[in-house]
Amino acid sequence: MNAPTENAELVRQHLIDPEICIRCNTCEEMCPVDAITHDSRNYVIKFDVCNWCNACIGPCPTGAIDNSRNVGKNKVYSLEEQYSWDSLPAQEALSGTLTATTAALPETVVSITATAQAGQGGPALAPWSAAHPYVNLYTPANPVTATVTGNYRLTADNASSDIHHIVLDFGSVPFPVLEGQSLGIIPPGADANGKPHLLRMYSIASPREGERAGHNNIALTVKRVVEDHEGKPAKGIASNYVCDLKKGDRVQVTGPYGSTYLMPNHPGSSLMMICTGTGSAPMRAMTERRRRRMEQKEGGELVLFFGARSPEELPYFGPLTKLSKDFIDVNFAFSRVADQPKKYVQDLIRDQADKVFKMLKDDNCYIYICGLKGMETGVLEAFRDICRQHGEDWDKLQPQLLSKARFHVETY
Ligand SMILES: Cc1cc2nc3c(=O)[nH]c(=O)nc-3n(C[C@H](O)[C@H](O)[C@H](O)COP(=O)(O)OP(=O)(O)OC[C@H]3O[C@@H](n4cnc5c(N)ncnc54)[C@H](O)[C@@H]3O)c2cc1C
Repeated sequence: MNAPTENAELVRQHLIDPEICIRCNTCEEMCPVDAITHDSRNYVIKFDVCNWCNACIGPCPTGAIDNSRNVGKNKVYSLEEQYSWDSLPAQEALSGTLTATTAALPETVVSITATAQAGQGGPALAPWSAAHPYVNLYTPANPVTATVTGNYRLTADNASSDIHHIVLDFGSVPFPVLEGQSLGIIPPGADANGKPHLLRMYSIASPREGERAGHNNIALTVKRVVEDHEGKPAKGIASNYVCDLKKGDRVQVTGPYGSTYLMPNHPGSSLMMICTGTGSAPMRAMTERRRRRMEQKEGGELVLFFGARSPEELPYFGPLTKLSKDFIDVNFAFSRVADQPKKYVQDLIRDQADKVFKMLKDDNCYIYICGLKGMETGVLEAFRDICRQHGEDWDKLQPQLLSKARFHVETY
């Protein structure tokens, strides 16, 4: 079937490799949504039912189920095609926009995610050593209720931005997450047309084992939106709801979401993290993961470029300044400090041109950008300049980074 697809909307299709599959039926038994079926020849996956929750991945004894292909949205492999295979078809060379990893994700999440990742320049893959994420376990029609166990203001009282650290507890209900994933919050109430509010996505700021290790809880970093992108007064529905939550309040949560913006797990892997404001949430999760495992001495460098208007406006400023330089190289940029020249994250990146170039060229280094939309323009220009200084062409390097799953952007 699939003729080469150009400039099309792409989707990621979950597939089983018939060459490796031992037809043990484990995946079909494990699948919570009955997306897997079989005939006398092959086990196959229904594209329109699979929600990539990945419940089948771990139990599969051979890894046959751990396969996917990016395909044109209108050219997904049918069940009949999958039944006929002796081996998986090769990944076609495609150009286009990957809009979803699954047909079953809510449209809101698909379109929000596509916009959030537009700055990365194409479909991304997860780092090869990333753990397998669970996604879309809870949908807008079937959300999970979490209880607020903490809500602390992170920015100084005199700062103009009001950013909160929120802790949500899921009790005995599973909500497995990996660093870099996000979740959805459904604000209560309805819009002016009487329609229930749509979910808003928030990055998870805690590591996989919980905000408090061993607890079934997660943290978020949420900024109260009080003006729109043009600076006009506007009271953000979800962010104000979340920032005003009290201990004991119950919140409707969907997700988890995200199957590519994940951290590598292999020893020696380095992270270059570039963020502004609440873009620090996934960076905190990844840094905490590494900090809690410091004794394992897994090596690999951690470098953080973090921008805000002033130290007072910087979430996690205090804890970040206490981390040792051997563990993480933290670089702050402040754009509005009296009597100091304005500094942005791209200036910090340029200041460290040699180190940044070395990391861009290091196959063990993974790059993460997160924050307000528009920040990536300056960062990419800095990368371009640094590459030029070192005789490299960023426009050629960036697709290589993408194809090696080393370049990840999430801006909103
Ligand atoms: C993948 C992903 C992860 C995200 N992670 C986080 C996170 O960790 N922390 C966080 O605080 N936000 C995060 N966001 C943004 C979040 O989903 C909401 O968009 C944001 O909180 C505003 O929602 P609201 O309901 O308060 O505003 P709305 O009621 O939706 O909008 C009110 C007005 O504010 C404008 N507006 C919307 N978002 C912003 C914004 N971020 N800044 C300024 N003006 C805005 C709108 O254009 C509108 O005019 C993330 C978004 C995505 C896509």
